[in-house]
Amino acid sequence: MESRRVDQMTEEGFSDLAAARRIQRLSSHISPAFTTPPSLSQVQTEVCSSRTKKVEVNSQALSLYMRGKHMDVQEKVYEFYNSRPDLQTPIEISKDDHRELCMRQLLGLVREAGIRPYRYVADDPEKYFAIMEAVGSVDMSLGIKLGVQYSLWGGSVINLGTKKHRDKYFDGIDNLDYTGCFAMTELHHGSNVQGLQTTATFDHITDEFVIDTPNDGAIKWWIGNAAVHGKFATVFARLILPTHDTNGVSDMGVHAFIVPIRDMKTHQTLPGVEIQDCGHKVGLNGVDNGALRFRSVRIPRDNLLNRFGDVSRDGKYTSTLPTINKRFGATLGELVGGRVGLAYASVGVLKISATIAIRYSLLRQQFGPPKQPEVSILDYQSQQHKLMPMLASTYAYHFATVYLVEKYSEMKKTHDEQLVADVHALSAGLKSYITSYTAKSLSVCREACGGHGYAAVNRFGSLRNDHDIFQTFEGDNTVLLQQVAADLLKRYKEKFQGGTLTATWSYLRESMNAYLSQPNPVTARWEGEDHLRDPKFQLDAFRYRTSRLLQNVAMRLTKHTKTLGTFGAWNRCLNHLLTLAESHIESVILAKFIEAVRKCPDPSARAGLKLACDLYALDRIWKDIGTYRNVDYVAPNKAKAIHKLTEYLSFQVRNVAKELVDAFDLPDHVTRAPIARQSDAYAQYTQVVGF
Ligand SMILES: Cc1cc2nc3c(=O)[nH]c(=O)nc-3n(C[C@H](O)[C@H](O)[C@H](O)COP(=O)(O)OP(=O)(O)OC[C@H]3O[C@@H](n4cnc5c(N)ncnc54)[C@H](O)[C@@H]3O)c2cc1C
Repeated sequence: MESRRVDQMTEEGFSDLAAARRIQRLSSHISPAFTTPPSLSQVQTEVCSSRTKKVEVNSQALSLYMRGKHMDVQEKVYEFYNSRPDLQTPIEISKDDHRELCMRQLLGLVREAGIRPYRYVADDPEKYFAIMEAVGSVDMSLGIKLGVQYSLWGGSVINLGTKKHRDKYFDGIDNLDYTGCFAMTELHHGSNVQGLQTTATFDHITDEFVIDTPNDGAIKWWIGNAAVHGKFATVFARLILPTHDTNGVSDMGVHAFIVPIRDMKTHQTLPGVEIQDCGHKVGLNGVDNGALRFRSVRIPRDNLLNRFGDVSRDGKYTSTLPTINKRFGATLGELVGGRVGLAYASVGVLKISATIAIRYSLLRQQFGPPKQPEVSILDYQSQQHKLMPMLASTYAYHFATVYLVEKYSEMKKTHDEQLVADVHALSAGLKSYITSYTAKSLSVCREACGGHGYAAVNRFGSLRNDHDIFQTFEGDNTVLLQQVAADLLKRYKEKFQGGTLTATWSYLRESMNAYLSQPNPVTARWEGEDHLRDPKFQLDAFRYRTSRLLQNVAMRLTKHTKTLGTFGAWNRCLNHLLTLAESHIESVILAKFIEAVRKCPDPSARAGLKLACDLYALDRIWKDIGTYRNVDYVAPNKAKAIHKLTEYLSFQVRNVAKELVDAFDLPDHVTRAPIARQSDAYAQYTQVVGF
């Protein structure tokens, strides 16, 4: 058995297995377990007799287009865990066992399967995120533990440190000898990172920094990998330098330091470090979050991650960046990778839950016309209303996050300043928008599966609990959306001062001009299907809304600042600013979706995408129809036509829903439909009870 496992871990063994599994999966799509109940076509015809032409979608071609070049490494991940029942997370597991299992799962991936995520963090982020998504779908705790080790702890070393740090730590982080943490958050300061209070004071006599927790509020809290497994921590602390003036010291702002927290051999906590366990959480219990307190812990000067600021042997501070704010911005700018990963992984969770709910809804039959077979619950308009725009949105977010990852990779290579700013705002916006959407959708999916959705075996409970915190960590969503709004306002000012706008924002130039003139009363009445399904109409509508919100909030801010000051005026307009940020992100998402439809080479896959894209766009416009009506951008007849077409498109998407979820190409052990699992339980039940 053991030798077979070793065989399987070779590249060749893996690709054979992966190929076999793909063939099996693809053939199951061709003669699927999820067949459409016979009564369906009849009901469809009755529900929508006028236009029933079904779009044909080739799910294999669509899958190839969607999954792209990192499909193989994801297959390798799935195969590895599927071949190792001892590494699969059981439904019922204690916190301590889950933590140990999670560590073994990670060790297995790296040391047995030979998949080394750290190598890709800097050099091939697209591949890294693909691995993270696949690993997270096996167990989300594992995905987060991997993220803590490689993109947070490992990422801080390579992104905030210099060559000496890379040389010293790379191999140990890569092979998991140097397990580590990312210790930023404190009890009193989470979102407000500039308020951190932990100190790192330079002692020029011993050439060391002394790390201290000055009060209880400065205890590092929620730190992943700290409670059990971490040997090091990147600690974010205020850099304090002794001076010869009356103050005696100078606070240089928040910097990052490598602090060993446990002994490399004995794993005992090191002197001066106190570690507590943050205990049982609502989800992600495979991750060992802990608290760290430092009492005069001494570390060598070299342990300052000195890419953006350094201290010389004689205690002099140097930096290429002129101010504390600029250094702080550059430091945080290097950490956006975690945010990019969460947005990407959140789409992965949405794919899983939408797949489970839609497959179940295709199979499940309740009620029907008199004296006829019961119908599939996905034929109810209400069920379509819950799930079809969600399926369309999943596609929209998929392409948006693929774009984000591409931009992030480009940024890592070029370090182009404009691109850094662009990726910063885009990652903040997409992370908050998508994780909030997925969190809500998980409840909708559970409900859509009725009682069976509540069985733990069907995953909604763990997905919901594990994913929930995606809305908070790596930046609270409400706080992140404000960064997007602030960025838009900055660019708005630049526009009027003749500054440059990057690709993602350049639409503002045209649509602001369009907004400043009144909506066109003729086009406001156009209601033909061709017009409503024209990407130009859809995108113009999204961008018009954003421009309008931007223009109005800029005026409101100017007005309120006079009486309330900048902080007060911002707070007075906060909800408006959040709506603006969401509206902008939706515009970006739609633009990327339209582009993905246009670029899709396979006509039948493209037809499926076009359907989903139109549904995404019109559903969003309909949900915000009040805004469009208020300013007569959409006349009453057009509003009615949008509503009717949205319902029709929902119905059309329902007709190809199976193909669209099949194209996600997720392995059965990740997304088996509730009824398939329930049937095992029923089989057992039948034996025991004798039905
Ligand atoms: C499971 C888990 C794992 C974590 N792992 C790590 C880790 O490994 N390392 C690490 O350093 N940290 C970690 N964290 C901490 C996490 O990053 C913080 O919880 C997060 O940054 C939010 O900070 P906070 O909890 O202090 O919330 P707060 O900032 O106090 O926010 C609380 C509420 O106030 C609102 N709010 C705050 N400021 C504003 C504002 N300006 N405008 C409007 N509303 C506002 C927020 O929207 C939110 O609803 C983890 C947390 C958890 C729960």
